[in-house]
Amino acid sequence: MSTNQLTGRCNCGGVTFVATGPFRPPKACHCKTCRRQSGHHIAATQIDRADLSLTGEDMLTWYAASDHARRGFCRVCGANLFWEPRGSRRISIFMGCLDEPTGLHLADHIFVGERGDYYTIGDSLPQALERDTTTG
Ligand SMILES: [Zn+2]
Ligand SMILES: [Zn+2]
Repeated sequence: MSTNQLTGRCNCGGVTFVATGPFRPPKACHCKTCRRQSGHHIAATQIDRADLSLTGEDMLTWYAASDHARRGFCRVCGANLFWEPRGSRRISIFMGCLDEPTGLHLADHIFVGERGDYYTIGDSLPQALERDTTTG
């Protein structure tokens, strides 16, 4: 089943959203920035920014973790919601904040060169040392 619209929210419900696909198959990112921000590695799908409808946007705080992207989280509960590359029309949505069933399945792992030293990747999905060419 291919889901064309998904809903999601932060932990406190201050930020909610409706996202319209097509949804990029989710990627797990093991980079240090994602791990520091989330507590572990992240997994995210991606859509066109224009297809994301936000409620409670004033609750959203943006943090420019690097020159090329910013991260959106709820200023009350701290839930990680979005990753937005600068100068792009795309936005990544962290899988954990989506309501289920998502109908999506993890596709691959990126930045495994920065994977933490305390875990291994236990599936057989493709792994890229850094970013792959389809990552926004
Ligand atoms: Zn919240
Ligand atoms: Zn990352």
